[in-house]
Amino acid sequence: MDIIQASGFSWRLWRKIKRCGCGDTCQEHCWEWHGTRNQYGYGRTKTRLGGRTYSYIHRAVWAAVHGRAPAHEVCHRCDNPPCCNPAHLVAWSHQANMLDRDAKGRSRPRYPTPRSREIYARLYDGSCETLTSIARELGISQPRVSQIKARGDRDGWERPPVLL
Ligand SMILES: [Zn+2]
Ligand SMILES: [Zn+2]
Repeated sequence: MDIIQASGFSWRLWRKIKRCGCGDTCQEHCWEWHGTRNQYGYGRTKTRLGGRTYSYIHRAVWAAVHGRAPAHEVCHRCDNPPCCNPAHLVAWSHQANMLDRDAKGRSRPRYPTPRSREIYARLYDGSCETLTSIARELGISQPRVSQIKARGDRDGWERPPVLL
């Protein structure tokens, strides 16, 4: 199966993803995005797909390959933020289940999580995203985003440099 044809995802975008030579089902290598990245290395985009707009390329790739919008965050198994190999992308709900299982009876996750830091940075990256638009895209509640913002403001989490 050709992953590009099967996904309905534009060839223009796939062209910016450097794939390995192993074929569509490679589990091993990272396929890195060579377009714009944010400060953490995540590929930025504005991609329309299935009636939604995606700001991050790995989320768009997940959606394209699975034929539906990810309900929560899409994480990298490989810990390589620009990677777009569908085999390395896992939707957050699954990851959260695994973490929950691991964390049962132990301490709560340390704050800030990479996810919280990413959400916080997006609020200040000059892209005019709002609490509501970020909440909607990530499938989390607006008060949750608001809570992350308050925590980041209070504790002085890293913000993207202001571009004037
Ligand atoms: Zn490969
Ligand atoms: Zn990878």
